[in-house]
Amino acid sequence: MEMIACPYCGMQVNADAAGCQNCGADPKTGVVPEWVKAHDAQFAEHVERPRPDETTRSHFFALPATLLGRVSAGLFLAVLVVFVASLIFDATRHDFSLTIGSVNVVLPIVVVAVCGMIVTGAVAMIGYHERSWAVWVSTLLVVLLMAAEMVSALLGGE
Ligand SMILES: [Zn+2]
Repeated sequence: MEMIACPYCGMQVNADAAGCQNCGADPKTGVVPEWVKAHDAQFAEHVERPRPDETTRSHFFALPATLLGRVSAGLFLAVLVVFVASLIFDATRHDFSLTIGSVNVVLPIVVVAVCGMIVTGAVAMIGYHERSWAVWVSTLLVVLLMAAEMVSALLGGE
């Protein structure tokens, strides 16, 4: 068995081998076949590329790490502010309204915001591994509140 130095990387290779064990080059010509280069490039990329849950590392006791999570939490904050404002307006017997023409658009805006908040929160959690408490709240609490509201309406018979 004759051993020769690989012309490409210098490794000792069996002269009869089809390719160097170290770099894949032909031991006689030193040419690295395209498929070996492609495989190496793919492997390098696979090793260096961070895993998705590392790029968007997010913990329960942290603020949202993802853009969608932040949007969701921001919408929750906005809806909360509108809700508190409406309670204050109610308590002081003022009308809480924002009108376009003759239509009070407060409720439609809140409904759209709540839908956006749930959708963005769910996508952030499922698609981007968002785990922040703020997104849990904005995504699930509202759903739970609506469920509780429906149950109490059923039980109350009104
Ligand atoms: Zn080699």
